[in-house]
Amino acid sequence: MGSMGKANKVLVIGGTGYLGKRLVQASLNSGHDTYVMHRPEIGVDIEKIQLLLSFKMQGAHLVSASFDDYQSLVDAVSLADVVICAISGVHIRSHQILLQLKLVQAIKEAGNVKRFVPSEFGTDPARMEEAMEPGRITFDDKMVVRRAIEEAGIPFTYVAANCFAGYFLGGLCQPGFILPSRERVTLLGEGNQKGIYVDEDDIAAYTLKAIDDPRTLNKTIYVKPPKNVLSQREVVQIWEKYIGKELQKTVLSEQEFLAVMKEQNYAEQVGLTHYYHVCYEGCLASFEVDDDQEATKLYPEVRYTTVEEYLKRYV
Ligand code: NDP
Repeated sequence: MGSMGKANKVLVIGGTGYLGKRLVQASLNSGHDTYVMHRPEIGVDIEKIQLLLSFKMQGAHLVSASFDDYQSLVDAVSLADVVICAISGVHIRSHQILLQLKLVQAIKEAGNVKRFVPSEFGTDPARMEEAMEPGRITFDDKMVVRRAIEEAGIPFTYVAANCFAGYFLGGLCQPGFILPSRERVTLLGEGNQKGIYVDEDDIAAYTLKAIDDPRTLNKTIYVKPPKNVLSQREVVQIWEKYIGKELQKTVLSEQEFLAVMKEQNYAEQVGLTHYYHVCYEGCLASFEVDDDQEATKLYPEVRYTTVEEYLKRYV
C-alpha cells in the first residue's frame, strides 16, 4: 500500500524494458493497481509477451497503446493516478525526447494524473549544465522534458538514480564490460573518483515509495545509498577480496580516454561522455544531498543491496 494508505492506479510505460519490468514488479509488490502499457506492434517477441503475461497473472492490467496514436496515449494515461515512464534512453538523439513531450501533452490533456515520473533514472540533468559534447544531449533533452512538465503544471517526481549496478559494477566501472575480469582491470584516471551504484530493483522500490509521498511532490530525489558511494579502486578491492587475488591494473589517463573517445561513433561517444563525468570528474558524489531528498533516508524501511552484496553474485 502507498504511504497515504490506499492503493494507487499506476501506469508504467516501457514496462518490458530493463528498468521498466522492475518498476512493474515493484508496483505489484506494493499492492497498487498496476497498468502496463505495451505497443500493439510488439510482433513475435516471445520473451516480451511472456513477461507481459506474467505481469497479468499477478494482477496487472495490460493496456495496448502507441505513441503513434495520440488518442490511445490519452486514453491510457486517463486510467492512472500515477504515470511512470521508463522508455529507453538510447545514446543517440533519440526519439525519447519527442515521445516524452507527447506523453506530457497527453497527461496534460487527460488531467487526472497526480504524479508523473519521467524516464530519467541517472545523473541529475539539472547539475550537468557544463557537460561535454556530445553526451550533453542526454541532459539537455531531459531538461526540455522537465520544462514541459513544469509548464504544463503536472505534479512530478524526478528520480536521480545514479549508476545502474548491472552496468557499472558488473564491469568494474569500465565502459564496454559487464562481467568482472579475474585477471585485469583498467582504472579510469587513478580510479579514485567516487561513483554511486544502485541495484536496479532498489531503484524501482524507491521510485514506488516516492510516487504518493507528499515529501517528494515536485522534487528531485537522489538514490545515494551511503555504503555504495565508492571509487573504482574500492569496487575493485571488494572484487579482489572475493576472488582472493589482485588484478593487474592499468591506468587510463584523462587524455588517453578522451583520445579513444574521439575515435568512436557518435552513440559510443555519448555513452563515454557519461563515463567521463562520473569516473574522471566524480560528478555524482561531488555535492551534498539533503536527507529529505535522499531515498535511503526518506525510506529507511527499504533494505538496499550494498555493492559488496551485489558483487558476490559474480564470484
Ligand atoms: P530499455 O531499452 O531496456 O527499455 C525500453 C522500454 O521502452 C521498452 O519497454 C520499450 O518497449 C519501450 N519503448 C521504447 N520505444 C518505445 C516506443 N516508441 N513506444 C513504446 N514503447 C517504447 O530501457 P532502459 O531500462 O535501459 O532505460 C530506462 C531509463 O533508464 C532511461 O531513461 C535510461 O536513460 C535510464 N538508464 C540509466 C542507466 C544508469 O546507469 N543510470 C543505465 C541504463 C538506462 P518495447 O519492449 O515494446 O520495445
